Amino acid sequence: MTRETTLSSLASAMGLLMNTDAPPQWTAAVTRAAQLLAPDWDQQPSRPALGTLALALYTLASERQETPTEIPLDVLRGALDHQPVDGPDEFSREPAMLQKRIETVLKAEGHVAYEGFQPRESALWRLFRDLRHQWEPDEPMSDMPPGPSAMRDAVARIAESLAGLDDLHAELLPEAPKAVGPVTVTVTGYLRLVSYSGASGSSVPLRCSQCAAAEGNIVHVDGPDVTLICPSGHQFSSWQLSAAQVRSALRLCLPQGSDAPVSADIEGTVTVHGEFSVGRSDMPEGFNPVRGDWVRRHR
Ligand SMILES: [Zn+2]
Repeated sequence: MTRETTLSSLASAMGLLMNTDAPPQWTAAVTRAAQLLAPDWDQQPSRPALGTLALALYTLASERQETPTEIPLDVLRGALDHQPVDGPDEFSREPAMLQKRIETVLKAEGHVAYEGFQPRESALWRLFRDLRHQWEPDEPMSDMPPGPSAMRDAVARIAESLAGLDDLHAELLPEAPKAVGPVTVTVTGYLRLVSYSGASGSSVPLRCSQCAAAEGNIVHVDGPDVTLICPSGHQFSSWQLSAAQVRSALRLCLPQGSDAPVSADIEGTVTVHGEFSVGRSDMPEGFNPVRGDWVRRHR
């Protein structure tokens, strides 16, 4: 039996963009972006489009010292508009002007600070970094061009949604849904991080960074953030766990005494009895972490 693991509802996509402590201006940007994309969301749900539009609204609001809801549509369209240049250079087709504006605002507000080995990044900066990331081959001498960023497709998707809208109708749009709130997952067995590369896969228990406990850990998902607490109370985190993959994996679990799967949009607390397999954060959207999936995929 296959189950859908994508997080495609608008409430779910909104929830993954903001935690309970999100700055009000960011919450307003996500909410306005959701409102603008809502009319055709069910036909073409796109988390990158929601994230990109929210970042664009946030940036414009900061530049103009307005709220995200006050940004006129022509100003928004102007910021999103970019003329793709045909040519061998993949970078030339990226929405570079928009990226530069977002980067300037986020840096000025201190969302990223370079100190020591690892930059200190806010959730907004991590979102921006992921959206603008372009896949490049590991081989330094490779002739393969870098892939398109998620932001590049998102900009085209947003333009379609905004095409038929004017300011009057944009004001009359229904309210955005309420974003999905945090969930706390107690895992009685191992939490396994599942990944594959080429034809091989791995499934590794996640351990507490202080005492190496691998069973009975608690996973707290709040917006894009994931924190863990081991049975001895140590709090830790791991880049290998993402909120989207944890929520996707929950959909493969069955509540006791029921054969209806757990909703990915679940809020509050839930217990997973036994092992909990979660796709590693760098696995693709909708990756099925239950063993056998990557074997089948590459057979
Ligand atoms: Zn511990």
